[in-house]
Parts: sequence; C-alpha cells; structure tokens
Amino acid sequence: MKPQRRTTLLDQTGLLIIGIGASLFHYYFEVSVRGAHLNILITVALILVISLFTQYLVNNINSSKRALQLANETLEQKVRERTTELRTSELKYRTIFENTGAATIIIEPDQTISLANSRFLGLSGYSRSEVQHRLLWTHFIDGKSYRKMIGDENIGLAGIPVRLGRDFECQFIDKRDNRRNILVSFARIPETEASVASITDITELKDAQQRIYFQAFHDDLTRLPNRALFLEHLQMAIKRSKRRPEHRFAVIYLDIDRFKLVNDSLGHGAGDDLLVAFAERIREALRDTDVLARLGGDEFVLLLEDIDDLAYAAIIAERLQQSLRKPFWIQGKEVFAPASFGVVTHTGDYTEPEAIIRDADAAMYHAKESGRCQVKLFDKTMHEKAQRLLQQETDLRKAISGDQFQNHYQPIVKLSTASIVGVEALIRWAHPETGMIHPGEFISTAEEAGLIIPITRLTVERACRDLQEWQKLLGADIDLTVSVNISSRHFMQPSLLDDLKEILDQAGLPPHLLKLEITETALMDEAEETIRLTHRLRDFGIRLMIDDFGTGYSSLSYLQRLPIDTLKIDRSFISRIHQQPESNRNIVEAIVSLAHKLDMSVVAEGIETPEQQAILLDMGCDYGQGFLFARPLPKAEIAKMVADRTPLAARPTPSSAPAPICLAS
Ligand code: C2E
Ligand code: MG
Ligand code: MG
Repeated sequence: MKPQRRTTLLDQTGLLIIGIGASLFHYYFEVSVRGAHLNILITVALILVISLFTQYLVNNINSSKRALQLANETLEQKVRERTTELRTSELKYRTIFENTGAATIIIEPDQTISLANSRFLGLSGYSRSEVQHRLLWTHFIDGKSYRKMIGDENIGLAGIPVRLGRDFECQFIDKRDNRRNILVSFARIPETEASVASITDITELKDAQQRIYFQAFHDDLTRLPNRALFLEHLQMAIKRSKRRPEHRFAVIYLDIDRFKLVNDSLGHGAGDDLLVAFAERIREALRDTDVLARLGGDEFVLLLEDIDDLAYAAIIAERLQQSLRKPFWIQGKEVFAPASFGVVTHTGDYTEPEAIIRDADAAMYHAKESGRCQVKLFDKTMHEKAQRLLQQETDLRKAISGDQFQNHYQPIVKLSTASIVGVEALIRWAHPETGMIHPGEFISTAEEAGLIIPITRLTVERACRDLQEWQKLLGADIDLTVSVNISSRHFMQPSLLDDLKEILDQAGLPPHLLKLEITETALMDEAEETIRLTHRLRDFGIRLMIDDFGTGYSSLSYLQRLPIDTLKIDRSFISRIHQQPESNRNIVEAIVSLAHKLDMSVVAEGIETPEQQAILLDMGCDYGQGFLFARPLPKAEIAKMVADRTPLAARPTPSSAPAPICLAS
C-alpha cells in the first residue's frame, strides 16, 4: 500500500509541475506577446515539454516498479513454498532413513560416515557423536570380509565396490569387538559424491541356516554326519582318486552285534546312550581326517582317506575291534557292544558311492554270518550273494501271493512204543524254476525281509487244517499234535496269540493240539513282554517247546520261570551220543533228567540209528524224531499213515533193535 501512496504523490507532484509550467507559459505568453519576449517563451515551452516527458518517465518507472514488486512478491511466495516443500521432503527422507528397517549410513568420499541412523548406532554400540564425521565405514567391517567384498572388483569412491546394487555378506565388528553377520549394499546418492550403505543383521538367519544345514546332514543322536553327507564325502573321494590314482581310500561298515538285545532288555534310552558312547569310542580311535557317519539304527560307516596301503583299513578295523572289547557303562550297567565290520578296499573300481556302501554292507553281513565280532573284506562273490538274496526276497514275495509253499510233516514218536504222537510241520518252497527249496535256504531271508510272519501264518493255517482232517480219520480215541516252528522275530509280535486263536477257530481245532517250537534266542532276554506272552499262550492251551535245546547260550533260569512243556534236544547232541571217546551221552542224560525234574517232557531230534534210539530209551527220553522213523513227508503220506494205522518201523527190542512205529492209542 505504501509504494502505491508514493506513486500517487509522485503523480500529484507531476501535475503540480505541469500546472506551474502551464501558468508560467500563460504568463510569459501574455508577456511575450505583449513584450515579444520570444526566447523566454521558448524556454518556458521547453521546460513544459521536459516536465511532461519527466512525468511520462516517472509514470513508466512507477509502473515498472509495481510490476517488479509484484514479481518479487510472487518469487518470495514461491521460495517460501519451496522451502516448506524442501523441509517436508527432508523430514520425509530423514524419517525413511531412520526407519528403513536396516542400519543405514551415508558415506562421504573420504570414507567417513556423515550420517548414521539409530539402528546403525544400536548395531555398532557407538553414540551418534562418536560415529558421525569421526569414523570410517571400513572401521566396522573385518579385514577379511572387506577383502572378499572388494575381491577382484575395482574400488570406487569412498572405498566401496564399483559394482553397486549387490548384496555383500560381511562380518560386522561392533564397539565391543563382537562380530555379527551382515548383508550390506551400497548406492550412490545422485548428484553428490556421497553413498548410502544399508546393512541388515543376518546373524540369526545364518545361525538358523547353519542349524538347518546341520540337521539335514547330521544324525540327531550322535551328531555324526548322516548318510547324505557321507555320500557326498565318498563322492569327493571317488573324484579325487579318479584324478590321482595314488589317492587311495577305504570304507568300513560297522554294525553292533545284538544291539536289539540292549534295546529290548535295558530300554530304548539305554540303547541311545550306547549308540552315543559307541560313536565316541570309534571316533577317538580315528584320525581327524577320517569320516565316521551313522547310517541309522546301529549301523555306522567309516571313510579312511589318503591311505598308503590298502591293508591299513583292515588294521584299523582290527584296532577298532580291540577298542570295543572294553565294556561300556550304560545307566550304571556294564554293557559290551562288539561289532561286525565289512571293509571295501579296492575303491578305485567304483564310480557310485552307493555301490561302495552296498558292498561294505554285504561284507559286514558276511562278518555277522560267520559268527559276529568279525572283520570281512569285500570280494565280488559277496556282491553276487547279496544279489541272490535280493532276488530271493522278490521271489519270496511272489511265493506268498502265488501259494508256492507246502507243508511236509515229520512224525514224532513215543520212544517206548515207537508210536506216532504228533508231527512237526516243516515248510518247503516249491519254487517254479529251481524246484523244492528247504527252509534253511530261505527262512533267514524271510526273517530279514519281514516276510516270516505271512509265511508262518500260511504254514500254521495249513497245519491246523491238515491236522483237523487227520483227527477226523482217527476219531475221538487218539490225539495227534502238530508242532510249528515260530522264529524268534515272530515270537516277539504282540499279535501272535490273537492270530493263532483265529486260525484254530477257523480250523475248529482245540488249542492243546497245537505246539509252538521256539528257540532259546526268543526267550533269551526274558523281557516282561515275552514272559507275559508265554503265560497267555499256555493259559489258552497252546503248548510251548524249546527247539534245538542246548545250542543257545542262554542261562537256564528261564526254564523255571516260563511255562515250557517240552525240550527238544538238538540233533548235534544225538548224532554224537554213541561216538567214542567224545560221547556227549552225559550231557544228554543231564538234559533229560533236568527236563523231568522241571516237569517237562523231552524229544530227541535227529535219531538216525537204532543205537541212538536205544541209548535214549535207556536214559528215559520220552519222544524221538528222526530219519530212523520217518523223513519229513508230504501231507498225503501222513494221511495214508494215519488212515492205515500201520507201524512204520521196527519196534525197539531189549537188544536195542528199533521198534516199528505205530499210532499211539
Ligand atoms: P528244526 O525245527 O530243528 O527241524 C528239524 C530239521 O531237522 C528238519 O530240517 C528236518 O528235516 C531235519 N531232520 C529231522 N530228522 C533228521 C535226521 O534224522 N537227520 C538229519 N540230518 N536231519 C533231520 P528242515 O525241514 O530242513 O528244517 C530246518 C529248519 O528250518 C527247522 O529246524 C526249523 O528251524 C526251520 N523251519 C522249518 N519249517 C519252518 C517254518 O515253518 N517256520 C520257521 N520259522 N522255521 C521253520
Ligand atoms: Mg523244529
Ligand atoms: Mg530242531
């Protein structure tokens, strides 16, 4: 408003000048016209013109001033607006800088940190004043990480890698010299020489990653490498030996003997403790470069690299065997854990790690077969055998579905009268290609493949059905029993009794006609479960016989604790009963008397000669079974024998001649 007023004033002054000029002009015009003072008139006219021009100029200046003022005001307004905008923007970016979620710093060309957000300060442990414009950003990165970060890249401004926009994994060092894993990325701030670095703390992520990696490649219990990691080590060893044939390595497969016994008798906790202690014992005996892994259960595998002599592997295996002779102390109990070892030395022939493990396993299997606690070196025949076993397993599965099994029956006779009291069902496999196969050739495969249960079920079903038919022929006056062999693994099955009940029910056979032949190993650990099962079987009426008695290594205490009906003396004792000078007559006599004292009856297996029969009879042995009386026979022949009720062999006379077999009545 004020300049406006000044303009008006100037305009009024101009009008006053014009007015005065006009008056003077009038005056001098009158005077000049009257006095003819022309010069004065011209002067006044000039003054008048100048005045008018001056007024014109002043007016112009005034309007320019106004325009300028207006422009100035607009500009000021704009500056104010810009300043506000800038302040808002600055606030916005500061807020973003503070809250990026990452520790962020601005780095000047001389490597100093000009700005650091709170997260960075928190991470570093320094105060703002200690960091900003004081410390270099490289102060926080450990030297090795820094060298790795810049690697073969060129270093750009502020010592940061030239190639921006990448994440670098580094070690961050805080004020207390603690190290953390970080991920850092750099960006240049446009139109400045400064850069921004954002840092993410990935320590926990890394830890979790490491844990996951560890879990994926290690066994939880022993913390040893697992199969997957071992295969990787083995693959590397194969590659190295392909590159450098002098690089020799060997693989040893270890399996604890009778580990199941520890598990079953002392519990799974003790089993776990033993596995850990076992792994430690083995580890202690190895070099740092050897790799010990747990494949699962009680199976371990060992990779010995860089060995000069292939025999070295066998020496190591022997040394480990020695170290396992010492007992372990598990939950206050002394436990022995000997192991069987399978060794593969000629690893140069392999390309697949799995094949080496497979063959080491096959060698270990042979070690177990040849009496446990053994070391066996792998040779090609083992592989062939392993393949045969695999083939047999496949064939067994087909045999179950294709009903290729048959029962043969071997009579059991009362020795005093030589009459048949029962039969033992002995399985036969009528293989479509190889012909009749005896149980000794496939029972262990069936057990290992978990096929023994369905196979035994078929045998027991058939035995009960057959016995029912014979019983019909015999009528009510004679009872014939049938014994079936139940393998130890099967005997541990809780469902055994229910299965047997069902089978007997279907056949319509009373339980006391069925006898189960089990070996000492099935009763060895005397687990509560086993004891309960034997009583439940007996209570139901099924009778129990101990097969191959005398060949197990168990204590005899179980004989008193369990409801056993009969002992079957193993045929190895009978075959040597009359041999001189190593007769084991005393042992057999002792078994017979022990059985009788415990109210059990005795069956002698494998009686082949009349002499054996006579000696056994003299000892008071109750029953006998063997080729002397009859070989295992197909069902039809037993049926004929039953229908005829005819004697089968000569009745023993006082002069030791065998008696003919007849049906007991
Ligand atoms: P085991 O139960 O001890 O059966 C007796 C074995 O001795 C039978 O062999 C029989 O043929 C044979 N044997 C009988 N008398 C004589 C003899 O006087 N001299 C000689 N040298 N041998 C005689 P087999 O049938 O080959 O059976 C062998 C073993 O297979 C059986 O021994 C039994 O442990 C097992 N087994 C047989 N059938 C089955 C079955 O159905 N299930 C299970 N789990 N095992 C079975
Ligand atoms: Mg038997
Ligand atoms: Mg036997």
